[in-house]
Amino acid sequence: MAKKQTPMMEQYQKVKDQYPDAFLFYRLGDFYELFNEDAVKGAQLLELTLTTRNHSAKNPIPMCGVPHRAVESYVDVLIDKGYKVAICEQMEDPKKAKGMVKRAVTRLITPGTQMDLNGDQARQNNYLAAISQADNQFNLAYTDLSTGELKTTSLGSVEGVINELINLQSKEVVGEEALPARLKAALDSRHILLSQQTEILKRSEISYLTQDLTAAGQRHVVGLLVSYLLTTQKRSLAHMQRAIAYQPSSFMKIDHYSKTNLELMTNLRSGKRQGTLSWLLDETKTAMGSRLLKRWLDRPLIDPTAIKERQDKVAELLDHYFERSNLQEELIKVYDLERLAGRVAYGSVNGRDLIQLKTSLEQVPKIKYVLEALDSPVFTDLTSRLDPLTDIADLIDRAIVEEPPIAVTDGGVIKDGYNDQLDQYRDAMNNGKQWIADLQEQERQVTGINNLKIGYNHVFGYFIEVTKVNLDKIPRDRYERKQTLVNAERFSTPELKEKEALILGAQEKSVALEYDLFVKIREQVKEQIQRLQKLAQALSELDVLQSFAVVSEDYHFVRPIMNSGHQLQIKDGRHPVVEKFMGHQEYVPNDVQMGDDTDILLITGPNMSGKSTYMRQLALTAVMAQMGCFVPASRAELPIFDQIFTRIGAADDLISGESTFMVEMMEANNALSHATDRSLILFDEIGRGTATYDGMALAQAIIEYVHQHVRAKTLFSTHYHELTSLEETLPRLKNVHVGATEKNGELVFLHKVSAGPADKSYGIHVAKLAGMPAPLLKRADQILQKLENKEAELAKKGAADPTNQPTPQQPAAQPNDRVQEALAAAAPLVEQNGQMELFNPQPTAKKLDKKEERVLNQLKELNLMGMTPMEVMNQLYDWQQKLK
Ligand code: ADP
Repeated sequence: MAKKQTPMMEQYQKVKDQYPDAFLFYRLGDFYELFNEDAVKGAQLLELTLTTRNHSAKNPIPMCGVPHRAVESYVDVLIDKGYKVAICEQMEDPKKAKGMVKRAVTRLITPGTQMDLNGDQARQNNYLAAISQADNQFNLAYTDLSTGELKTTSLGSVEGVINELINLQSKEVVGEEALPARLKAALDSRHILLSQQTEILKRSEISYLTQDLTAAGQRHVVGLLVSYLLTTQKRSLAHMQRAIAYQPSSFMKIDHYSKTNLELMTNLRSGKRQGTLSWLLDETKTAMGSRLLKRWLDRPLIDPTAIKERQDKVAELLDHYFERSNLQEELIKVYDLERLAGRVAYGSVNGRDLIQLKTSLEQVPKIKYVLEALDSPVFTDLTSRLDPLTDIADLIDRAIVEEPPIAVTDGGVIKDGYNDQLDQYRDAMNNGKQWIADLQEQERQVTGINNLKIGYNHVFGYFIEVTKVNLDKIPRDRYERKQTLVNAERFSTPELKEKEALILGAQEKSVALEYDLFVKIREQVKEQIQRLQKLAQALSELDVLQSFAVVSEDYHFVRPIMNSGHQLQIKDGRHPVVEKFMGHQEYVPNDVQMGDDTDILLITGPNMSGKSTYMRQLALTAVMAQMGCFVPASRAELPIFDQIFTRIGAADDLISGESTFMVEMMEANNALSHATDRSLILFDEIGRGTATYDGMALAQAIIEYVHQHVRAKTLFSTHYHELTSLEETLPRLKNVHVGATEKNGELVFLHKVSAGPADKSYGIHVAKLAGMPAPLLKRADQILQKLENKEAELAKKGAADPTNQPTPQQPAAQPNDRVQEALAAAAPLVEQNGQMELFNPQPTAKKLDKKEERVLNQLKELNLMGMTPMEVMNQLYDWQQKLK
């Protein structure tokens, strides 16, 4: 095996050994090459052709490559797939190198540290997180390297950590070796890359960034995160902001399931942003505003003063249409200052970025002016934070030309008059042009060749070009041939050489000087990064607030009154997203009345009548209110919720059976064990995923438990009409229903929520519409009555008997008893009834044929409670056809 490697492969291997978990892009001339396993895997992922190096050898080395100019797009693909990429550059000019060209890794790009974010990604944060464990507590830190935001918190459980990571949508987590297996598995299943960092460096950056933190565990985890960055990122971290500790409990908590269910950020069906609350509310004009809006949506406030402050500003902006339009016009011209600050620190800004920075800064005085014209105390603080950085704007204005080239190394970036030395070089260059023009004229005179011209190219420099027909006229003694073309020859003269040296010298020096000047300007901007970040923060806030004002006006939102008690009164509430798709006219607004005396609304009504929309609209209203936005209603008074829990099944996940039921129970349990009397719980059709009585018993027990022990504001939708009798025994439960009616033989959903339980004979009503025989319907009615009477009795007994109440220790003990009872109550119904022809397998009146028997058996097996009206109709139609 001791095969001798070429010196290059030896060098490659040395570098690769330092980055075993990254794809190594190894620069070779105009290409980056991948070798060995990197090449095999990379060729597949990047759709490149796999070749070999040394094909003649016994063990040829697999290899593939990408052109250096296109490298970014290939890197992006790998990073998106969750891999790391190390870029290894040539550190000297290969032409001048003696022996092997020196190479070194200049960049390590990882999913959590990617900075060049374009398109949609510009409107999103990219968070790198770090986790460490101390005693029974987890410490978490996160940063967005492109903006320098740095935060830390402590969490009590693995679930808490996972939830926070999902909220942050982190693609990469830095951890010490000892992390619980459960956490590692959770990261793995979500394709979150875990990067190891063992050592905390002793560096001044870390002391600086952690200086405001008091908790040792939080200082540790921030140290871990920054150490990882210092080790892997070959770049300045000057733009990173001092770490801020936050308490998850100072925001409204919405667990990940509920965020998904409520479609705050992503659409359940398409996985996209369209159709979400974030999409609806986002009328921001800047990418940083859009990112801040998502952060606010992710963490609605619970501090009433902070909510009021945002609302006050939205109200002002809402009332002042023209000022608001002016602000929008200025904001559109504001560049992504947050990310620009990051790139300034990294040293990757060019002339165009600086011009954009200047343009952005020029908007600030105009924005201040508009806000001052509003003459409202609510904007005093925000206005004072709008620092126009006049020094920086002036500097750029004096130094950088209005339309600089992309490259900062080729000159043409610095304005005339900014630097004396540069002006002198430029003079020489300009004069040079004149010299050349004069020389050309002079040579034409001397030779008599009228089309003689002096030109320039990169390879040969300046030359005199003479067409073939005129060659006999040139002075052979002075003209020295440089190049032969098809129709012409090119020459040089001693005089031309002299001018050339002067011109090219000036040009070279001026380009070098320009670059030096540019770097100095960049450094001056870098010193002001913190001011720039503060300005960015203030502008982002203003942008989100104006966005709230815009949507509040467009969609007729009102300012909610936030109370410190438990009053919840909404008049004409709407689901803002459904309303937008459907149109303001079409949507049926609904009230929610839950005073101090009401904790639970039990919502009944047919499928598709609007139960779940009604529940969701309340949750969205609460979230919007606590973000500081106005809400879709004609009047709204709300308590401040500490948490929202939901169990809202999508229609189709009910089909998948047991596993869904497990999820359902887990989510319900999560709500029951963590909700407080300040929380909001939405339970949609709980218990539906299991057998009817089983599910109904569970549903009832859950309602009782909430009523007795949790006392959170709860909306509970159900198709078990039997549960509506709970209103008689549970004083803080109210029945409401969503109406439907029959019109021209068709079922019409009214989408209107009213007090009281839904019409119980609804399912039978559908059967009637389908044309079922009258005796059958009558019989169904009888059975229903019996079932209901039994259930009502049972419910009364259960609720009245205090020993039957679930205790916090055994919330699930009761349902089982209840199932037994319910089943016992239901069973005699079928057996005892003598005239029950339809349900009797041995008919007394008429012998059934095979077909009829089959239908009857199917009917017996049918789980009516688990079917939608449409399914019932289809089934009935099917039978009718069979029996004809
Ligand atoms: P359920 O939960 O009762 O099965 P949904 O809440 O899913 O019903 O509503 C079914 C459909 O009815 C929704 O997709 C929506 O289009 C429509 N809908 C619901 N509520 C309203 C309303 N208030 N006004 C108009 N249409 C509504």
